[in-house]
Amino acid sequence: MCGIFAYVGKKKSAPKTILEGLKLLEYRGYDSWGIAVKYGKKLVVDKHVGKIGNVSLDSSILNHKSSLGVGHTRWATHGGVTQKNAHPHLDCTGGIAVVHNGIVENFQELKEKLIKKGHKFISETDTEVIAHLVEENYKKEGFSSSVRDTFNRLKGLNAIVSTNSISSEIIAAKNGSPLIVGLGRDELYIASDSTGILKHTKNVIFLEDNQMAILGKDIKILSLPKGNKIKPKKHKLNWKFKEEDRGKYKHFFLKEIYEEPRVIENTALNLLPQVQNLSKLIKKAFGTFFIACGSASYAAIGGTYLFSKIAKKHVNFSIGSEFKYMEDFITPKTLVIPISQSGESIDVIEPVVRAKNEKKAKIAAIINVLGSTLYRISDFKLLLESGSEKAVVATKSFIAMLSVLILTAYTLSGRKDKGQKLLQKSAENVKKILSYSYIKKIKILSRKLKDKEHIYVIGRGLSYSAALEATLKIKEAACLHAEAFPGGELKHGVIALIEKGSACIVFAPNDETYDDVISNAQEIKARGGYIIGVGPKENNVFDEFLPTEDIEEATILPQVTISHLLGYYLALARGIKDPDKPRNLAKSVTVK
Ligand code: GLU
Repeated sequence: MCGIFAYVGKKKSAPKTILEGLKLLEYRGYDSWGIAVKYGKKLVVDKHVGKIGNVSLDSSILNHKSSLGVGHTRWATHGGVTQKNAHPHLDCTGGIAVVHNGIVENFQELKEKLIKKGHKFISETDTEVIAHLVEENYKKEGFSSSVRDTFNRLKGLNAIVSTNSISSEIIAAKNGSPLIVGLGRDELYIASDSTGILKHTKNVIFLEDNQMAILGKDIKILSLPKGNKIKPKKHKLNWKFKEEDRGKYKHFFLKEIYEEPRVIENTALNLLPQVQNLSKLIKKAFGTFFIACGSASYAAIGGTYLFSKIAKKHVNFSIGSEFKYMEDFITPKTLVIPISQSGESIDVIEPVVRAKNEKKAKIAAIINVLGSTLYRISDFKLLLESGSEKAVVATKSFIAMLSVLILTAYTLSGRKDKGQKLLQKSAENVKKILSYSYIKKIKILSRKLKDKEHIYVIGRGLSYSAALEATLKIKEAACLHAEAFPGGELKHGVIALIEKGSACIVFAPNDETYDDVISNAQEIKARGGYIIGVGPKENNVFDEFLPTEDIEEATILPQVTISHLLGYYLALARGIKDPDKPRNLAKSVTVK
């Protein structure tokens, strides 16, 4: 979470460069933003609550000709969303600025000590202690070693970038969230990801954990905690910088749903070699674990059903942040498969790093972002190639994950051709769902559902993962409470909540789950429930019906597209202004 962008170099337009860089990083957090630039012998700071995307390039900070500065877009962890809590944070003198990604776990203890020494705190954040700690030793030790000592005292997974009003240096240190240095001609950049940097240079250094960088006239990399010099590993990226636009669509959310057929086709046609290599690793492994969070975790749950049913293979699954309580099972023969859109979820990266370094397990990542942390630390990587996903709510990347898992399960079972065929058929069905008349139906249904307090979604087997995905979209995008259950589970308690008019979406594909899930729909209907059926067969129990074709296991893909459309149109029906950036969320979740 949080986007960091900093610049030092020959340009006198650091504020503009940083502002533009932050706009590209805003998907990482958009509670508030701020920039500090060196102007003469002082730091000028500009901080705002709200999204940076709407800010025109005539913000007051741009009037300051400066060639050095740091910027941040925030996703609050400690302290409310206020201007005071926005980064950069300053020390008591106002001469030291810090931007930070992560959580300083021991900030309370550090803050108490600093207050006793007379430091005055302005914000409620954990970050502010960093600026005051740097101030403590700055005069005695100099800037870079004071930043190093400070970073060594922080507990938790953190990335910081700091500058001051006197020297012409930017210092960065990290243990956790990513920081990438861009090496321009007589200019240096540092940012949370390569997107903002690629526009300026393709020469980069990926700062590793427990390293710090000193950016000034040139770049020095030092080890942490001691400060020994390290020869930096320079990379030339051949990735293209492409600023995505919404085209004819009002939101990226909708544009990305319309890309779903292309993503499925691409998986069927182009990803088979990668899928075959992954299948070989799975066959060789003694125990396989999927690890994922959020939408990706629902794809992983779908994967466990697909592997069992199609490939007759058992795979384990764990939510990223829970994996540490299961890792006793891991051995050097285990294959760990992290699944992540961004490749930056700290809740996935942390256990993966432990599995790799401490348990010597093999890591095969399924990810969407080239060059992300998971991409770089994994032994094998399967790139989803669904293209850059700008809306915070995952859509086409989820479809890509499921498509890859369907193809992998069929490849494992020796029937890759069938897997490819089913994907192609489902891409055709998804295209039909994206047609004018179908969308009209979903819009009408969304208007009917918009004032419900809760929406329940049920599915059995593989469709349970579609149910989970549907409820997450409804919650994230439309801010409406929705809950998913395996069809058989409601009667074990939650059916107590069903009353006249309770909306329940029922995924009823033409498979072994059909009869049972229809019985569950009947149970809900008998208590007044309003049933929305999704599947290839009409049924009397349905009050509304959203048809899909019968494409065996790949029927889940049209089910998911319908869920994505429902999430989007429910958001609009409920008056949500910017469904691309739902409240309280960030696309890349880099704090624990
Ligand atoms: N913990 C810091 C804060 O709440 C940084 C959060 C972030 O990574 O954006 O301000």
